[in-house]
Amino acid sequence: MIVHININIRGAVQGVGFRPFIYKVANEMGLTGFVLNNSMGVSIEAEGKKPLLEIFLTRINSEKPSLSFIASLEYSFHDSIGYTQFVIKESAHSGEPSAIIMPDIALCPDCLHEMNNPSDRRYQYPFINCTNCGPRFTIIEALPYDRQNTTMKKFEMCSDCRSEYENPSDRRYHAQPIACPECGPYLELWNEKGDIISSGWNALIGSCKAILEGQIIALKGIGGFQLIVDARNTSAVRRLRTRKRREEKPFALMFPDFKSVLEICEVNRLEENLLNSPESPIVLLRRKSNSKHIISSDVAPDNPYIGAMLPYSPLHHLLMQQLQIPIIATSGNLAEEPICIEEYEALERLSGIAELYLTHNRPIKRHMDDSIVRVIHGRKAILRRARGFAPLPLSLENNPDSVFSGNMAVGADLKNTVAFCKGNNIFISQHIGDLSTKQSNDAFESVINDFKKLYKIEPNLLLSDLHPDYHSSRFAQKSNYPTKYVQHHAAHVLSCRFENKVEGEALGIAWDGTGYGTDGTIWGGEFFISDDSCIKHVAQMKQFPLPGGDSAIKEPRRSALGILYEIFGNSLFNNDTRFTRNILKEFDEMELSLLKKMLENKVNTIFTSSVGRMFDAVASIIKIKQKSCFEGQAAMALEFASNKYEKGSYDYSLIFGKKVIIDWENTIIDLITDFVKETLIDVIGGRFHNTLANMILSVTEYFNQNKVLLSGGCFQNALLTGKVIGILEKIGCKVYTHQLVPTNDGGISLGQIVATKYEMLFNV
Ligand code: ZN
Ligand code: ZN
Ligand code: FE
Repeated sequence: MIVHININIRGAVQGVGFRPFIYKVANEMGLTGFVLNNSMGVSIEAEGKKPLLEIFLTRINSEKPSLSFIASLEYSFHDSIGYTQFVIKESAHSGEPSAIIMPDIALCPDCLHEMNNPSDRRYQYPFINCTNCGPRFTIIEALPYDRQNTTMKKFEMCSDCRSEYENPSDRRYHAQPIACPECGPYLELWNEKGDIISSGWNALIGSCKAILEGQIIALKGIGGFQLIVDARNTSAVRRLRTRKRREEKPFALMFPDFKSVLEICEVNRLEENLLNSPESPIVLLRRKSNSKHIISSDVAPDNPYIGAMLPYSPLHHLLMQQLQIPIIATSGNLAEEPICIEEYEALERLSGIAELYLTHNRPIKRHMDDSIVRVIHGRKAILRRARGFAPLPLSLENNPDSVFSGNMAVGADLKNTVAFCKGNNIFISQHIGDLSTKQSNDAFESVINDFKKLYKIEPNLLLSDLHPDYHSSRFAQKSNYPTKYVQHHAAHVLSCRFENKVEGEALGIAWDGTGYGTDGTIWGGEFFISDDSCIKHVAQMKQFPLPGGDSAIKEPRRSALGILYEIFGNSLFNNDTRFTRNILKEFDEMELSLLKKMLENKVNTIFTSSVGRMFDAVASIIKIKQKSCFEGQAAMALEFASNKYEKGSYDYSLIFGKKVIIDWENTIIDLITDFVKETLIDVIGGRFHNTLANMILSVTEYFNQNKVLLSGGCFQNALLTGKVIGILEKIGCKVYTHQLVPTNDGGISLGQIVATKYEMLFNV
């Protein structure tokens, strides 16, 4: 007997060749009916013998297209209607949009092959794509994902493209950005005034020539403009640094191919996979010691790591095939501003930086930076989650009643992301950046509006950081939505707990640079015990004063002065001993008398338990770094300077009260003693890292925990994270780190959403 099955699939099933796949399998199996995209995902009606339909269900799961992801598959059996053939139907436009939008995917091998084939009609065409690759999130204007809902709608398909687009057995069947040299977007090379110098292939060749001559090119990429210079050319790299106001922060490099990455960097198997993945992120790789002569030392000054990526868009492939050299490919912006996405905006905002613009007429709907990943202790850690990853959601498999639905989180002010929950999915925005400029604040609000419009959501609750001076918190205050304020480090721990699906009691450790505490001080060395409904603050690093408050973040020497003042008090300034002389020497008399007054009178001085600031203090004490040009620079320098094989460590103690306080006074005294004895810097650094790991071990043992969650910016430090995991696994603990969202503040928005269902206890 012929029966009818109704199948509704949600997940990443649009723009990945899902309908042609269903069409092919159904026809192979002799089923009748149809498949269509709707705003929820994909809907199938099929008829055939019941055992056959059951096999059909299994085949959907086991043979689905490689880029697709099934979040839920619901089906029901009914009486036959009597279809005579299996077809692909036009998309249905009714219903609530909740379809999962695919991220932008790097050029696939099939398209690369065609692009390099002189007899293919898309030979050397910079906008080639198919159902398996190409732009997605950056071109979508509305759901469902159809040509007329993308920025490609203004390009009328030629007859060849249209027949591919309409042929279910073609690999470009319903590839929404389908294009060719006849009908699609094209390149133009502009000068600083916006005059067209050349177009098409000549624009590409002209750009290559200019890059090799040392010019700075603004290139319109997938998610915005990138600034490109020859990475071997020191004067070009320096000009870019000065103009972009980026003194020392490393620039990412794009290499022509994997072989050329190997000439400069050490690459393990996992890193190789990441470089070649469809997400195609920037991968932080250790530099080979003999690589210095190949690229300019100004690319990543004093940094043993290189942020490396491979060409991901067809335009990048063509450019790199011509250039055959490593180039700097950094975001097209000034300092901390968001990346430019529109050519006239770029002409204005990048004026004085770029000398030429390699642009095109395919509009970018929303900004998307390159993602950054690092392999830490054999696991992938995402440091910046954007192209290739966003906006794929995390799903709430264990929460069918979706307790978070309608919640929207606005994140923290550094490395901001926003998140919202709709149905069973938590969508986390692409990296927005530091909310410290007018442009980035505007970008923050436009991402919120974009998400609301795209997914048709109206928040019923806003979640924001507790920090009263964050732009994101003020946005929440000004809004008319009910708002809940979530303590920063509790959010860190809960985001790690959620992404690892941890159940039952676990110790959560949130170590970072800065976060507002419930007592108005700056926290950053926090321990929590959480279970499925409650999170309790149980331990903390001993606090020390930071003279000058927030400006101390840019000056590790101020953290050093503060930490020493906490140990020695005023005698720090009176007894000029070999212990303290080294630090006092880092200030002139004026500065010192000012800072002394601040510390004595507790004026313009904040107290902090931040481990990030402890890293700063140690980096300053052992003369690695006195002033930082970017967030985390001193801590990174200390990590890189430390010997990972060192076994020694320093003393510390636990003070037991309402909370456990970790007292590091002896640690700092031991460390200075080592330094005065002229112990090697790498040994001192290694011992400091070991000591921090020991502190975590002591707290874990004291609270008798066997599950530990690590979150916060400090765990971007691979040496620290590796040591902590190693020491805890030895006593049989299971250690959870972030792999899906950043361990830094990019993961805060997720934690804020999870916090809605948590009771938070801070003063017990
Ligand atoms: Zn392709
Ligand atoms: Zn065409
Ligand atoms: Fe943080």
